[in-house]
Amino acid sequence: MKTSIRNISLVVFAIVLTRCSLFHLRPKGDYHIASVENNVCKKLEKKVIMYCVFVDTKYTNSWTTFDIESALDSVRKAMNWIEDQADLSDIGLNIKVDYHQTKKKVVPIRQNFPRKTLSGTLLSVNGVKYLDRWADKIGKKVLSVYPKDTSTITATKVKPKDRERLLAKLRDIHKTDNVALVYFVNNYYTDEISVAVHTAQDDSPEYAVVSFKEPSVIAHEFLHLFGAWDLYITPYDNARKARKKKSFAMREFPDEIMAFADRKIESLEISPLTRYLIGWDDNLDPNYVKMIFNKKIRLAKY
Ligand SMILES: [Zn+2]
Repeated sequence: MKTSIRNISLVVFAIVLTRCSLFHLRPKGDYHIASVENNVCKKLEKKVIMYCVFVDTKYTNSWTTFDIESALDSVRKAMNWIEDQADLSDIGLNIKVDYHQTKKKVVPIRQNFPRKTLSGTLLSVNGVKYLDRWADKIGKKVLSVYPKDTSTITATKVKPKDRERLLAKLRDIHKTDNVALVYFVNNYYTDEISVAVHTAQDDSPEYAVVSFKEPSVIAHEFLHLFGAWDLYITPYDNARKARKKKSFAMREFPDEIMAFADRKIESLEISPLTRYLIGWDDNLDPNYVKMIFNKKIRLAKY
């Protein structure tokens, strides 16, 4: 639990409160930034695949054709926005949206969460493990629509899981290393979270589960997969230091997508900090380094 939860970034959407709260648990002590060039989503440039899988569960709304269409519209809007943002850093980026389909029709995959809901699963003991199993089972079902072959498996330390086999397949089909795997569940009318897991490790492929159809949430989770960090304060940010750093970031970057995913995407931008974390900028302003990271940080140059 300890090792896996630190790689979780959550967006908790509390509809009643009208704004979200999110938290990001990270290891204590010194560490260096290795958010780029690891795992499956290596670097957000050139050709990137955004692969969407729509999932029905017992405790979420069923995906209707209309819901899927509107979710895909939001995905395209989010990806266009990210491409425009890449342009500002002179990064050539072409994101192709692809999705699981059978005979040219999107058919949602049915797979119940092990603990009723996404948050119920994730916040239980060994929650990440359970969520991984859920994601793997779906991966297997998605894979079954493709003909069998011997695609190269992603090089991770554990034996290939169905999620990895699916990613290998998609990399093979699209001829690119960068595939973002995002599961969509239809939680539109309830309080739920969106989550990106395994974003900073190499032993399990990262993926996201999105509960809402807002383009800003989709872009936020997508950016996590490529190394972005959460930059907003939540009740879970107990350490005073962490809160201080986050409030600095929120003041300094008032329109940052990783801090304000509850707003409309048109009003948001990608700050220099996130640009650095996702490898779009080679360097980070020394003032930000001092305020946001501790002194022991070894900043990687991309
Ligand atoms: Zn987040």
